[in-house]
Amino acid sequence: MIFGKYINKYYLKYLFPLLLGIAALFVVDRVQLIVPELYRLTVNGLVYGQVEIDGVVRAFDMDILLDNICRPLLFVILSLVIGRFAWRICFFGSAVKMETDLRSVMFDRCKELSQQFYNENKVGSLMSLFTNDLETVQDCFGGGVLMTADAALLGVLAIYKMARMNVWLTLFALIPMILLGSVGTVVGKTMTKRWDERQEAFSKLSDFSQESFSGISVIKAFVRETKELMAFAWLNRHNEDANVSYVRVSVLLNILVTLFVESVVCIIFGYGGYLVHAGVFDVGRLIEFSGYFTSVVWPIMAVAELIDMRSRGKASLQRITDLIDTKVDVRDREDVLDIKEIKGDIEFRDLTFTYPGSDVPSLHNVSFKINAGESVGVIGKTGSGKTTVADLILRQYNVDDGMLFIDGYDVNKIPIKTLRDYSAYVPQDNFLFSDTIERNIAFAVDDYTDVQVREAASLAGVDGDISEFPEKYKTVLGERGVTVSGGQKQRISIARALMKDASIIIMDDAVSAVDTKTEDAILNALKNVRSGKTTIMIAHRVSTVEDMDKIIYVEDGTVTAVGTHEQLYEACESYRKTVELQRLEDERREDINA
Ligand code: ADP
Repeated sequence: MIFGKYINKYYLKYLFPLLLGIAALFVVDRVQLIVPELYRLTVNGLVYGQVEIDGVVRAFDMDILLDNICRPLLFVILSLVIGRFAWRICFFGSAVKMETDLRSVMFDRCKELSQQFYNENKVGSLMSLFTNDLETVQDCFGGGVLMTADAALLGVLAIYKMARMNVWLTLFALIPMILLGSVGTVVGKTMTKRWDERQEAFSKLSDFSQESFSGISVIKAFVRETKELMAFAWLNRHNEDANVSYVRVSVLLNILVTLFVESVVCIIFGYGGYLVHAGVFDVGRLIEFSGYFTSVVWPIMAVAELIDMRSRGKASLQRITDLIDTKVDVRDREDVLDIKEIKGDIEFRDLTFTYPGSDVPSLHNVSFKINAGESVGVIGKTGSGKTTVADLILRQYNVDDGMLFIDGYDVNKIPIKTLRDYSAYVPQDNFLFSDTIERNIAFAVDDYTDVQVREAASLAGVDGDISEFPEKYKTVLGERGVTVSGGQKQRISIARALMKDASIIIMDDAVSAVDTKTEDAILNALKNVRSGKTTIMIAHRVSTVEDMDKIIYVEDGTVTAVGTHEQLYEACESYRKTVELQRLEDERREDINA
């Protein structure tokens, strides 16, 4: 059994089935201990021709064989089958239910954790928590209760029966067991450490595999298969070493158990044989005594297995506890206001922002205002801070008080849910789910019609493409949308955002993979459908944003100019240079194409 703050409550929650399991186990153990008595009757009957039943010595005949040996044996077998079936259902069933509950708690925490957490923790490691570690904890829960209860019940019952037969023989037989308990505790600590190292190595291996599969096209394009294979081989070997190191200690524990058990057998037959010789015991009683000891062997094995299991379980539970205990850093504060709706005014007021864990601010002293309903372009070089602006508006990270205002309220006073309910986002990586195109587009809405999905797709300029797919809107996309092109992915992401019809929409480099004609069509459609709602378009190309109500020009984390295209062209030298450079590039491209 393992205990910890996230598992204790499940012992209470599943107390009834667990108690039922313990009751079934008690019956099984009790019944099991009838067998050595039957051994005694059989052996004494065969050796001496007479047996002692309820203090009366009787000649061994067919009636005794049938009534006192065979019939009870049938009863024992039947009870064992039913009892074992019952406790298996009770213990393992509760463990599976506990695993399901704990997995939900873990998933619940994972979905609350901020972007920063996912920047720092790799998917492979998280997956191994949800698979390997959770499975280990599940084993410990059901198997732990079973083994603890069994070791206690069968151990106590059998030792009681042994002690009633001969106290000294029982004490001699128990000495190696006490030694085993002490050695097991020490070995168990080493096993916890080794298991932790093993899980760590496995996490690294799954991180690497996950990343390699996701980036397989890059690996192939750069012909880095061999390098990847070598890196994988190294991690695989490390994983193997960690496994072997754990198994070594586990095997050592098993050898010790066998050694101690065998030494007890020697004691029983050595000292017991002497007792038979001295006339204290008859042969049948010695066999009965050794039968009880055989019953104690399983609890002893269970204790060894329990030490092994607990060691693994403790390490895995600690890793799960660390995940659930991870602080949710982006959350509503206590003084949050009861705001139910967002109109779409946005104001950055002398905002400086540094990503957690970084020393350099990504935005410094940024000030600008977007009125609800405006269409705004955010433009600047790569790494200038454009995505950071989007991240902050969507509250992916915390900002200090008095720096960012939405509808005139400090963003920290607005419930995060309200803010995100009224926002839509087209992220740079255009993540699509392995689901139908229809469900991807309608992802943010609960009730929708086919017509609405088609409308959103038309506005995003992807309806024509989808109509050519064999299953049209019911086409299932491969993992991360690999069966569609980059441009189609972008437009499906835009359709998903438009479907929400939010007060604020932010598109991060959303049209970079589409041709200029399609881009123009999308921008025109946006003008109509987004009229009166705030639209923020982050872009590299001036042509994407030049017709917008306002353009924000970002340079090295600062906003150097805000205004219309004409105003910026007049007033901001860097913007003017960008415009001219991009014009030259366009002309050169046209010349080449001509
Ligand atoms: P842009 O969108 O203009 O290309 P970003 O807003 O993504 O630029 O990045 C602005 C700066 O912030 C860059 O220097 C980038 O390296 C840094 N940055 C972005 N994300 C993080 C992060 N999660 N942690 C630390 N620094 C970051």
